[in-house]
Amino acid sequence: MVERAVRVSGQARGDHAPEPICRRALELGLRGWVRAREDGSLELHAEGPEAQVVALVETLSSAQTRQARIEGHEQFAIRGAVAGAFVVQEHAATAHHYDLRLEVDGVMRSWAVPKGPSLDPGVKRLAVQVEDHSLEHNDFEGRYDSGGAVIVWDRGGYEQGGLVPWPEALERGHAVFVLHGEKLRGGFALQRTRGGPPRASAGPKFQWLLVKRRDDEARPGSDIVAQEPHSVLSGRTLAGLLA
Ligand code: MN
Repeated sequence: MVERAVRVSGQARGDHAPEPICRRALELGLRGWVRAREDGSLELHAEGPEAQVVALVETLSSAQTRQARIEGHEQFAIRGAVAGAFVVQEHAATAHHYDLRLEVDGVMRSWAVPKGPSLDPGVKRLAVQVEDHSLEHNDFEGRYDSGGAVIVWDRGGYEQGGLVPWPEALERGHAVFVLHGEKLRGGFALQRTRGGPPRASAGPKFQWLLVKRRDDEARPGSDIVAQEPHSVLSGRTLAGLLA
């Protein structure tokens, strides 16, 4: 069977929302994505058997279609839609670090990033997977009785991306996502590198790398954690909170 990939921009007939396009693509057994643009038009990438691709394109009016490379998607998904909350909490503990948390299926999947996130695509930051947190913890800022302290360094919504549906992408160890924060914006990737030694208390600590993807939001050479140290909730710094 001949597989084909197209990139299409155009107007949806009737309902402009991407959901009907996504449903139709899934019915047709196609893979790829659809995104609503700010002007109300749709952009979509569809790959699969030629006849089904043609059938999906025909659901759009005034569509401009061009051949695209087959990217190997394993799903058809809506892009540009927020999948949940993200937060980065700067945490003074035994070792100072930043906790990146992404909302997945009702919990905040969490990684401790010793040096914090970067907007420089040339920088790979170690991210150690830690236990899930509750959504209620996202707004927590203050001192712990144990002596540590936390500020909400950044927060917002995020989109799930990549070729593999979530949360399977996380289980497989490669997850692509787009952050819509006040400081962190654009595409990022988390790549699992290895599991550390098992610990009786916390289980195995999987190690990942957090990398900014190359896009319009990338800032080569920048150091966002040094340039923007203040809490997005209160304007306080961690040092100020501890003083
Ligand atoms: Mn922490």
